[in-house]
Amino acid sequence: MNTVTRPRILVVGAGFAGVECVRRLERKLSPGEAEITLVTPFAYQLYLPLLPQVASGVLTPQSVAVSLRRSSRYRTRIIPGGAIGVDLKAKVCVVRTITDKIVDEPFDYIVLSPGSITRTFDIPGLTDTAFGMKTLAEAAYIRDHVITQLDLADASEDPAERASRLQFVVVGGGYAGTETAACLQRLTHAAVKRYPRLDPRLIKWHLIDIAPKLMPELGDKLGRSALEILRRRGIEISLGVSIAKAGPEEVTFTDGRVIPTRTLIWTAGVAASPLIGTLGAETVKGRLAVTAEMCLPDHDGVFALGDAAAVPDLAKGQDGAVCPPTAQHAMRQGTHVADNVIAALRGQPLRPYVHKDLGLVVDLGGADAVSKPLGVELRGLPAQAVARGYHWSALRTGVAKTRVMTNWLLNAVAGDDFVRTGFQARKPAKLKDFEYTDAYLSPEEVRARVEGAGRARA
Ligand SMILES: Cc1cc2nc3c(=O)[nH]c(=O)nc-3n(C[C@H](O)[C@H](O)[C@H](O)COP(=O)(O)OP(=O)(O)OC[C@H]3O[C@@H](n4cnc5c(N)ncnc54)[C@H](O)[C@@H]3O)c2cc1C
Repeated sequence: MNTVTRPRILVVGAGFAGVECVRRLERKLSPGEAEITLVTPFAYQLYLPLLPQVASGVLTPQSVAVSLRRSSRYRTRIIPGGAIGVDLKAKVCVVRTITDKIVDEPFDYIVLSPGSITRTFDIPGLTDTAFGMKTLAEAAYIRDHVITQLDLADASEDPAERASRLQFVVVGGGYAGTETAACLQRLTHAAVKRYPRLDPRLIKWHLIDIAPKLMPELGDKLGRSALEILRRRGIEISLGVSIAKAGPEEVTFTDGRVIPTRTLIWTAGVAASPLIGTLGAETVKGRLAVTAEMCLPDHDGVFALGDAAAVPDLAKGQDGAVCPPTAQHAMRQGTHVADNVIAALRGQPLRPYVHKDLGLVVDLGGADAVSKPLGVELRGLPAQAVARGYHWSALRTGVAKTRVMTNWLLNAVAGDDFVRTGFQARKPAKLKDFEYTDAYLSPEEVRARVEGAGRARA
């Protein structure tokens, strides 16, 4: 423990979990009690559930990037960069700043909330071809890419090229994939009216999942309603099917079908941030194994939560159940972990995290939606009102709320201009470029670096 100065609390990641944690720490700790530092590559908290609406142009990217500094209380020191390794024994976090400088950040307490990345599998061509839907850059890129396909198909005289540019494949029938397919299909359906040379019947969206049901969390009846809405809108849904191989101009499904396409959007689940692998600690399906108090066993002062951690789900009452990776849990765990950090700092007992799931809202664009708040099944406009109302109220700042509401109204009244900005064209655009999966150290590299830095200081 650092005895000369105030205890140092280091929070890694400014997502749902990290931001709630920092806000609570600032509110409950006096400035003399601890020094709070936040490591984050971006100056905003991304409201991920609204990303499909950014991709489809209903919302501008800025409206879902909630400012970290718009808060009168913000006394936290913010390091612009990403943690690339943690040495639990030496209590040092290695950070790569946004200018590529590597710095060691010592801590007394660390809260690990770096979230997750897109989970991929060993499918030939997948990581070189697919786009994810996890970052603001990915959402903005996909929008431009889809509009580009319409522009190029319109300009082409080659029927085969037209066909491949006008077919789109989304893999993943969870809420992220379903909302993405639904929102983007609305985009192309509306945009094609501006392309009189294109036959709208050539535009085809495929939504596939290896599971036998879409969004099983919705239950049978509501899941079937979502399926019917999407099929009515012309989205071809294939269940029990995945990708066998992917290439730049076609993908092969596991049922043998070959789909000519230049657009493969991969949303088949998430995996904990690669930062967790640098700790050399026990994991559950890649997420850091923590106690119900969100502590790492045998390591004082180490906490983890959100998508990056396997927090026992005590409300389920089932042995071994862990909280699903949702914003609903991450936000609440953020507040709760802050209370536990404060309790640890003050030598008080820590409390276990318990939260009963409140349900699910799924915005399928326009008036289409299905929601299950507190177990009540809703469809159509009531479901849409609940979905939008829920997200709107969960946005952290008044300015973000105003931006989102204004965007919704503007889109409803004026529609979209389907402008291809081109500002990201010719930039590297693979999963590893958007999600920085190559940036991390191995546990041995972390140890060697921290020990080397220690020797240099001595
Ligand atoms: C398209 C989509 C739709 C979704 N819809 C819903 C929904 O409707 N309801 C719901 O409950 N959940 C939804 N989710 C899931 C939800 O967004 C996540 O569960 C939630 O964001 C997890 O919170 P978190 O704080 O753990 O991670 P995040 O919110 O992802 O935050 C992690 C933060 O850490 C930063 N970071 C990453 N690596 C590092 C590093 N090495 N160093 C420092 N910082 C780092 C990231 O930039 C990010 O800011 C959706 C997700 C997606 C992708």
